[in-house]
Amino acid sequence: LSDRLTSVFTNLRSKGRLSEADINATAREIRVALLEADVALPVVKDFIARIKERAQGSEVSQALNPAQQVVKIVNDELIEILGGETRRVRFAKTPPTVIMLAGLQGAGKTTLAGKLARWLREEGHTPLLVACDLQRPNAVQQLQVMGERAGVAVYAPEPGNGVGDPVRVAQASIAEAKRAQHDVVIIDTAGRLGIDSEMMQQAIDIRRATEPEEVLFVVDAMVGQDAVNTAQAFMDGVGFDGVVLTKLDGDARGGAALSVRQITGRPIMFASTGEKLEDFDLFHPDRMAGRILDMGDILTLIEQAQRTFDEEQTARMADKLASGEDFTLEDFLDQMMMIRKMGPIGNLLGMLPGMGQMRQQVNQIDDRDLDRVAAIIRSMTPGERSDPKIINGSRRSRIAKGSGVTVGEVNSLVTRFFQAQKMMKSMAGGMGIPGMPGTRR
Ligand code: GDP
Ligand code: MG
Repeated sequence: LSDRLTSVFTNLRSKGRLSEADINATAREIRVALLEADVALPVVKDFIARIKERAQGSEVSQALNPAQQVVKIVNDELIEILGGETRRVRFAKTPPTVIMLAGLQGAGKTTLAGKLARWLREEGHTPLLVACDLQRPNAVQQLQVMGERAGVAVYAPEPGNGVGDPVRVAQASIAEAKRAQHDVVIIDTAGRLGIDSEMMQQAIDIRRATEPEEVLFVVDAMVGQDAVNTAQAFMDGVGFDGVVLTKLDGDARGGAALSVRQITGRPIMFASTGEKLEDFDLFHPDRMAGRILDMGDILTLIEQAQRTFDEEQTARMADKLASGEDFTLEDFLDQMMMIRKMGPIGNLLGMLPGMGQMRQQVNQIDDRDLDRVAAIIRSMTPGERSDPKIINGSRRSRIAKGSGVTVGEVNSLVTRFFQAQKMMKSMAGGMGIPGMPGTRR
């Protein structure tokens, strides 16, 4: 990532467009972020391809570095995809409007039925909740509790009537809605732990019998990767018009949202964020995009990395570089210490143009070794530190003895130093180090 960004950033000056290497480098980071958010692999692939296409030929922004700019494109695109067709509930010309809920057991359908009923009531509707989950013993009662809390009527088969037929209950509820002047009917259905054909057939039969304006697929945001298979099965089976994501109060990054949206092409209409009836809202694509990408984190880390660069050191380094003075072994040590101080944040240096190569130098030395490197440099005379070219064979063995390392280690340090020096020189003449005042052009 970093090497390419470095060279690419220089190219940007002449081209004024995002280069392919920029885009590829950042696309890799985005890919990891999406997979960590549990977006399904095929969806990630499609999405990245789309991003690359869109990013190619984008003008270079003055305010953002190339990596940040690609991240921004990704964010914009995510919002567009997630919200492309956001729409409100469709109401029937002749009431009642039928809304049917489908989804696996435990997805949150019954809870959602209560939330939706309450929400519709507050919008001035007169919904009727219908209990068509006759599979689980307590399902009807659970819906009745929801109805009570939402202040909404519930239609359910008479208890003790033997096993009810959900299709008949659904049909009868529409007649009841007309009679009692409910303008919306919300049908809660049964789910199974896995997709099974009997459950799917029942949903299909209820749909045929009631011809809903909206079939809403309710899916638990915590299911992650599995959301794709479930969504596909419901799409092929009962079919649906919109999606409701539940349990967004959990710690899932919400990749299911993107997967389901991409795989089914159906809009996400509502979000459920808790067990209480008020924990419910229209779906907000921008919030979800931020959550999937964890953009906040990415951007905060970049800022942190920039801040952690010790102001004094950077200013000193900037002066040196600006005056064309040589980059010495002491500077090399300072830089390594600075980068180490950033800890894991230092890994994000790849996001900062120009710092990739430096990071690589430090990566070759792990934390434990850094102390040895410091010891080696401190065993050198001031003359050797400022002009390492004079460090010949006999000086090397003296330094090795003094710092308790092998001559080989001294050699490799000196070699790495010369590489870093070369790099610093080219940076001083080129683009400067981000966060170093006076060096950026
Ligand atoms: P159903 O089987 O699809 O009808 O699912 P339920 O509505 O019975 O919900 C299953 C469980 O998930 C219940 O314990 C609910 O309280 C809980 N639940 C539903 N929606 C949410 C939500 O948005 N957040 C949280 N934390 N829990 C929820
Ligand atoms: Mg239920």
